[in-house]
Amino acid sequence: MTNQAMIIEGKRWDTSSSYDVINPATETSAGKAPDASKDDLEAAMTAAQRAFPDWSRDEDRRRSLLREAAAALNGAAEQLGAILCAESGHPLPQAVVEIYGASLWFSYFADLEVPHETIELNATTVAEVRRRPLGVVAAITPWNYPLVLASWKLAPALRAGNTVVLKPSPFTPLATLAMGEVLSGVFPPGVLNVLSGGDELGAWMTAHPIPRKISFTGSVAGGRSVALSAAADLKRVTLELGGNDAAIILDDADLEEVADGIFKGAFANSGQVCSAIKRVYAPKNRYDEFVDALAARADAAVMGDPLAEGTDLGPLSTKPQYNRVVGLLGDALDQGAVAASGGGARGGSGYFVEPTILRGLSEGVAIVDEEQFGPVLPVLAYDSVEEALARANGTMFGLGGSVWSADPERAIEIAGRLECGTAWVNTHLALSPMQPFGGFKWSGIGVENGPWGLASFSEIQALHRPLGEAT
Ligand code: NAD
Repeated sequence: MTNQAMIIEGKRWDTSSSYDVINPATETSAGKAPDASKDDLEAAMTAAQRAFPDWSRDEDRRRSLLREAAAALNGAAEQLGAILCAESGHPLPQAVVEIYGASLWFSYFADLEVPHETIELNATTVAEVRRRPLGVVAAITPWNYPLVLASWKLAPALRAGNTVVLKPSPFTPLATLAMGEVLSGVFPPGVLNVLSGGDELGAWMTAHPIPRKISFTGSVAGGRSVALSAAADLKRVTLELGGNDAAIILDDADLEEVADGIFKGAFANSGQVCSAIKRVYAPKNRYDEFVDALAARADAAVMGDPLAEGTDLGPLSTKPQYNRVVGLLGDALDQGAVAASGGGARGGSGYFVEPTILRGLSEGVAIVDEEQFGPVLPVLAYDSVEEALARANGTMFGLGGSVWSADPERAIEIAGRLECGTAWVNTHLALSPMQPFGGFKWSGIGVENGPWGLASFSEIQALHRPLGEAT
């Protein structure tokens, strides 16, 4: 049990109102989180605004404090990982690795070099292309990877010279608040403020006049509300939203390698990954062998206590998500799907759903057409590669996708035709701070990571000046 406070202006900030965060493995309390009021939000926004002028002035200092932040997170990985495990149900070693991941993002952005561009307009004049920070950034995160997804926003936003007010999901606020406390020992007061509360707190943030940018990761529905609210005063937005990633297996693919890769790409974090594989297209003439190979891996996966050694899969992280996955699975079975492995909830306490491979489905069933975000994977049969591509692209989601083949050149050509922000060849879910990440269509607006992600936390200023002046 851990009771966390909010962090405003570098200090623990207690509130009169708090709520229990539920441990999804046991359905008991994992600790208490504060429920921010509008006054708390006002205090956080004002603190961030006050801290901005100083923070935006000295880039070398920002780089060095980002490096310190990375070190502080590494030092606190076990402590933060234990809190994350309790509130999210992630198996403990995976929760700890998430903290190291967040640290990696801070180091990457601390050291990222962005070339300074100067354009010679004529013999006497140049335009310097400068990047200016935006001001206060409101960062809003989901429950599936609260710390690493926060770091995708915090590290570039802070490096670019902005100050931040961060709000985690109401389902998993504790580790993010604890991270805020760790980082309050690194950053000057007001540079990073962390609040917790319900969805309405997110809506208050997007409507607040101080932030100039909203960086949001969450559902398509949430992203739509954010975009509408931000539009009213032309705040900048980056939206990282849901996905329904397809994996297309070509007829020459190696059975064991592909089954291993697809299983990992679909069932990591019990399927609760925005860019996890959510539909598999297998060639009809090899359909049964791929279904059987995936089912064997699902049968072998160990689901259970996140604190026990050897656990591969924890529970779903939230009760609504558990209800949704159980509902989608039941609907698919009612519509003729056959479970080649798993097939239902585990029963007993905790939000556990058995890792399930579904066969015999096609489009038109909700678990294929929508984002299931859980450990249930439909495998669909196709006749021709053109047909598989059309079906993979025939959705308003466009986050990721992958093509699997013994012939990488063939797979690269087909992957390049997937309509999505990340197209992988013979792998899925491979992410890096250096590689841009974002969604086509309903899966998002803008990208995170790499120099592109850093640039999204700034405005371009063209400084039109005589040649020869100091830059
Ligand atoms: P969600 O949209 O319900 O909530 C995300 C965050 O937004 C939470 O902090 C929530 O409190 C807040 N929020 C909700 N309504 C809001 C509003 N009207 N205004 C402002 N803030 C609001 O999403 P979730 O259930 O927490 O997360 C799961 C979803 O996130 C899945 O769809 C998943 O694919 C997506 N996701 C996307 C990425 C990505 O990078 N593309 C990464 C992880 C998760």
